[in-house]
Amino acid sequence: MTTERTHRRYREAKARLFARARATDAACHLCGEPIAWDADPNSNYAPSADHADAVATSGPNGLFGRLLISHRLCNSRRGSKTVEDYLATQPQDARPTLVW
Ligand SMILES: [Zn+2]
Repeated sequence: MTTERTHRRYREAKARLFARARATDAACHLCGEPIAWDADPNSNYAPSADHADAVATSGPNGLFGRLLISHRLCNSRRGSKTVEDYLATQPQDARPTLVW
């Protein structure tokens, strides 16, 4: 079992997420702010595919779990925390809805 992020199945799921999120103007599921679609892909507010269940804690098929749109920075900050645990560390007024 591979956990390579270059895996075709993962890349396709990520591409579908980005297309769907961009078409619906979805906000980052972690902070609720708009995604910077045209930003440098390495910038903090560029789009990122955040795993609803962190890859690090969800076993060999974790890479292929459900993806949610987020900023690179928010995804990085969340790390391997659950979405709920991460949001609990954020200021109350910064909490997004979990629905996008
Ligand atoms: Zn964010």
